[in-house]
Amino acid sequence: MANDRTTVVNIISLSYSGSTWVNLMLGSHPESFSVGEMKSISKIGWASCTIHGDECPVWSKFDHEHIDTKNPFDQLREITGKRVFIVNNSRDFLPFMKPDHIDAKFVHLIRDGRAVAASFLRKYPDKSMWGTAKLIAHDLRRNLRLIGRQPKADTMTLIYEQAMADKQGALKQLCGFTGLDYRPEMEAFWDVEQHFLGGNRGTLTSMIQKGKEQKDELPTWIREKRGDENLPQWNTEFYKDKDPGNFVDERWKDELTDSQLRVFALLAGRLNRRFGYPKALDRS
Ligand SMILES: [Zn+2]
Repeated sequence: MANDRTTVVNIISLSYSGSTWVNLMLGSHPESFSVGEMKSISKIGWASCTIHGDECPVWSKFDHEHIDTKNPFDQLREITGKRVFIVNNSRDFLPFMKPDHIDAKFVHLIRDGRAVAASFLRKYPDKSMWGTAKLIAHDLRRNLRLIGRQPKADTMTLIYEQAMADKQGALKQLCGFTGLDYRPEMEAFWDVEQHFLGGNRGTLTSMIQKGKEQKDELPTWIREKRGDENLPQWNTEFYKDKDPGNFVDERWKDELTDSQLRVFALLAGRLNRRFGYPKALDRS
């Protein structure tokens, strides 16, 4: 009776590590659903779909006020009819994965810390590499502790660059881990109706522009972005003409100076090498 059970896959990562992309692929199976960042519910006080806003046919049915008595994953199962839910960095919602009928799985998604640092500094140009590398090391250790507390069989590590280079291999691995049968069409997540909470606006922009479904109905945040440059800088320009399923972002190699990389090496270099990345000054 495996199908009576609900599975919640937690993608645990630093920001700018491709978690939106991985989530959308894994959530594009007929039996799975991409939830996104549940912390956005606590942050804004209700569940707002990044793609459809308050008109969302899924999230408008979600009762965020009574999650203590109505388990959010039971609610989602009832609304969507799916059995596997993919959430990103939603620590606050771990208690809701405790009931016996729910299996919690953890994917530790790792990206080269130098690329993460460059993305962070692009968004916050006033910050220093010192503070950025420190933050990266701190958050990475925190994630490792969370993963370390889970039963080993319920955890896996996914290296972003390897997943990008071999999407099919990564998806097969993720499906096997999650208990889903692999479907090649999952790679084309833009052809599936998505209802994402939070998420990387760049990935979501290129998804919407490529998708069949949502193309004519651009969400407000994209329409607004076009008219007002003072709105939050989501850095969506870079993604505008990118294929959401196939682009590599190696801007860090040009953007970071040797002295910045030396600072990175000092504060986060060893931790980064632990996942197979070369020494910080090696840009190969
Ligand atoms: Zn929606």
